Amino acid sequence: MKRALATCALLCAVALPALAASNREPPPAGSIRGAPAQYTRFTAAELTRGFFALAFGSDLRIGAKPRGIRRFDHPIQARIIHGGSVDRVASMRAIVEDYARQVPGLNLSVAEGTRGGDIEVRLIDEKDFKAALEEAFGVRITRDFVARTDPQCMTSVKSTTEGDIVRSVTFVIVDKGDNVFFDCAYHEMLHAFGLSNHDQRNPWTTLNQKRMVGYLTVYDRALLTLLYDRRITPGMTAAQVRETLPEAIKDLDLTVPAQ
Ligand SMILES: [Zn+2]
Repeated sequence: MKRALATCALLCAVALPALAASNREPPPAGSIRGAPAQYTRFTAAELTRGFFALAFGSDLRIGAKPRGIRRFDHPIQARIIHGGSVDRVASMRAIVEDYARQVPGLNLSVAEGTRGGDIEVRLIDEKDFKAALEEAFGVRITRDFVARTDPQCMTSVKSTTEGDIVRSVTFVIVDKGDNVFFDCAYHEMLHAFGLSNHDQRNPWTTLNQKRMVGYLTVYDRALLTLLYDRRITPGMTAAQVRETLPEAIKDLDLTVPAQ
């Protein structure tokens, strides 16, 4: 699908280490047609590289520069708002539940009723995308964002200067087929939880916009598990994360087993 390569300039200077990812497995049952296989064991260096690239920075920043890590610091409720010409509510609910099951640290559930929700997931048709952005964020911000990134789906994350996410709003296109829907939905939820950036040179993450994945990979699950580990807190700087991450990766048993 078409997504702009907005962050490439930022990331082109990152040297690729030799790849050691291992234990290649097919995509999970029920994945979209053409979904890529995945590696399921990674080195600490591979996880660290992805975490730093994806948990710091974002495509479009408004207001004060966040100091570091952004994440929710309380249980998360996701509210799904029906819309568009294809009913994807049940699929979107299943995706939220998939994240909740695979990353218990999120403390994630689907908000029932019509009010509340820390994450708002708005399902819309592609033709309504720009108008929906304008309504949510205003004409000027939408024009700026569209000009810079030409997005097809989008997530806006509002956080305090301390790094606590207050609210995320995600737009997911429902009328351009299963592949666009599942890729967008899984991709945008990662942003909504606080993995705000992209990495076009990373061969394992859904947040590489050159890839179409459509499921929660072991790699992205590991990054989210780290982000929501008790040792990683909102506002942490890169230096603080660099001190903390090795122990968290080790304790959570996220790396290639020692031979
Ligand atoms: Zn994205």
